[in-house]
Amino acid sequence: HDRNVMRELILSSRTMGRRIGFIPTMGSLHAGHTSLVDQAVAECNDVVTSIFVNPSQFGPQEDFEQYPRDFDADFNLLARHDVRWIFAPDVHEMYPPGDSTRIEIDGPAEPYEGTLRPGHFSGVATIVFRLLQAAPSHAVYFGAKDWQQVLVVRKMVHDLKLDVEVMTCPTVRDTDGLALSSRNTYLSESERNRAQTIYAALEQAAQNWCRGLAIDTIEQKVRDMLSAKEIQIDYADIVHTESLKKISEVSQNTPAIFLIACRVGSTRLIDNILLPSQALSSC
Ligand code: AMP
Repeated sequence: HDRNVMRELILSSRTMGRRIGFIPTMGSLHAGHTSLVDQAVAECNDVVTSIFVNPSQFGPQEDFEQYPRDFDADFNLLARHDVRWIFAPDVHEMYPPGDSTRIEIDGPAEPYEGTLRPGHFSGVATIVFRLLQAAPSHAVYFGAKDWQQVLVVRKMVHDLKLDVEVMTCPTVRDTDGLALSSRNTYLSESERNRAQTIYAALEQAAQNWCRGLAIDTIEQKVRDMLSAKEIQIDYADIVHTESLKKISEVSQNTPAIFLIACRVGSTRLIDNILLPSQALSSC
């Protein structure tokens, strides 16, 4: 629970030449999280996972209070995945009373989630920075599901010259394609059924990209599929994987990704699919 204790444990392990891998999470863990843990275990000597529902990345109207929390279940799951340490500070440990320092990032933190969730990425960057101080690791692992978050963290690590490698792990999905998310527990049974359309739409978009359909057409087909299931769309755009700028024409050489944020009932979900950048024939 204690930042200084955590830091001392990790520094003493580092002095023995051990490679440390770190997975920041907000708990309510599922197989998406443990895939990050497993990758870290495979690549590092010691793995540390944090469980911290970070208040500064939630907007005032968002679900900070309701966010699912189950420390015992998380502890037992992590114990089965060879995690050496769990860092589970309380809010005051990470944000002592009177604390008012925040990290602000331009560029990748501005569009999409940055516009729709003002302050969100400042909260993410601030907590990742502080967690890395408490858990000074060689590598930190993030999921590709939160694509923009990875770009924001990479930008911070680059600009502040933090001595850590940022690793990106593939999205883990349920059997019907829905990306695993702690927020899926909010979905009713019928919402859960409708939500599988999100990945079906993304897969169709990737196929249409390979077939060379116009960008507007590919995006419109996704919007139509989601709307048919009464899923409200925040955005559904094909963008450059790094700049997040909209792409105007299909080019097999442009690294592209389809980003979606939408609401199924009152639950907000995000997902994405990388669009193949090879020659058309390999699509
Ligand atoms: P969270 O607890 O939602 O903050 O997520 C902690 C980390 O797990 C982040 O790096 C997420 O991108 C990652 N993550 C969440 N869901 C998945 C998933 N379905 N597959 C892979 N990584 C995930």
